[in-house]
Amino acid sequence: KAKNAGKNNYVFYQPDMARQIVQRRELERELRVAINEGQLFLLYQPRYDLRSSRITSVEALVRWQHPGYGLLMPDLFIPLAEETGIIVDLTDWVLRKACEEVGQHFENMSVSVNISPVECRDPSMVSRVKNALQKAAFPASRLELELTENITLNGPDTTKSVMHELKSLGVKLLIDDFGTGYASLHYLNCFPFDGIKIDKSFVFGMNDSETAHKIVEKIIGLGKDYNLEVTAEGVETLEQLEQLKSYQCDIVQGYFISRPTTLEKIKLNANFSVENNLLATEKR
Ligand code: C2E
Ligand code: MG
Ligand code: MG
Ligand code: MG
Repeated sequence: KAKNAGKNNYVFYQPDMARQIVQRRELERELRVAINEGQLFLLYQPRYDLRSSRITSVEALVRWQHPGYGLLMPDLFIPLAEETGIIVDLTDWVLRKACEEVGQHFENMSVSVNISPVECRDPSMVSRVKNALQKAAFPASRLELELTENITLNGPDTTKSVMHELKSLGVKLLIDDFGTGYASLHYLNCFPFDGIKIDKSFVFGMNDSETAHKIVEKIIGLGKDYNLEVTAEGVETLEQLEQLKSYQCDIVQGYFISRPTTLEKIKLNANFSVENNLLATEKR
């Protein structure tokens, strides 16, 4: 039987493709249910400001506690949400929840939320953000939106006006995964960004490459030239942190400071400083 099927690849693969389509549809349906039935939750990763030695902001990262599959990470379902349009409801949920929770736990902490590229050229984005802020009674000045560079590829004019309107609400705009996308440096001038987040691959590279060090240093310098607040992502070691500090990086984020966690835990460590952490590490 298997032999016959093997002779004809078309016959062999067809059932598999059909199954994949069915599974996708199923997951899509389940994702809609998940948003409405509280299966999604947020973890937060501290963003540590090297200038003030304080956690000044947290990044909201979505998780899906799936009843059958267990804990699912965003890389597994965000692309599906983007392709199916579910991302609109998902982002609305994340925005509202992040503002509510951070507002409940902290007086001054900012929160950053990831926005999908497909949403950046959607003019309704502005009223959606405004709505979330209002419903959560959260000040716009404490909300940061993380956008990837690729937003600039499609419909730059619409995107530009959406971003200026978002800015006029009072929220901050950050470029996420900086250095991995297709934006030309020119866009740094055209779009009203407040900061860049250097992609973690550059920080990882610093471990074994002198070139990577230079690239990171140059990107930080570039950010400064454009008056942008510079964050480095994926900081996993003390060495990386010290290098970044010597390059005048403003904010660091990564497992060395903290993995994504609950706001309760972050609050307990509100006075966390890298200096204290070093003491603790040395003692071990
Ligand atoms: P991102 O926005 O670049 O977020 C950083 C990712 O790197 C997170 O993965 C975080 O847990 C991980 N990370 C942080 N520090 C370190 C480190 O030191 N080492 C390593 N190896 N990884 C680190 P996560 O939570 O799995 O999220 C993956 C991506 O999914 C995010 O990348 C973001 O693009 C997307 N995402 C997460 N939540 C949302 C959301 O609510 N909406 C949208 N549209 N996208 C989201
Ligand atoms: Mg991000
Ligand atoms: Mg992102
Ligand atoms: Mg990133």
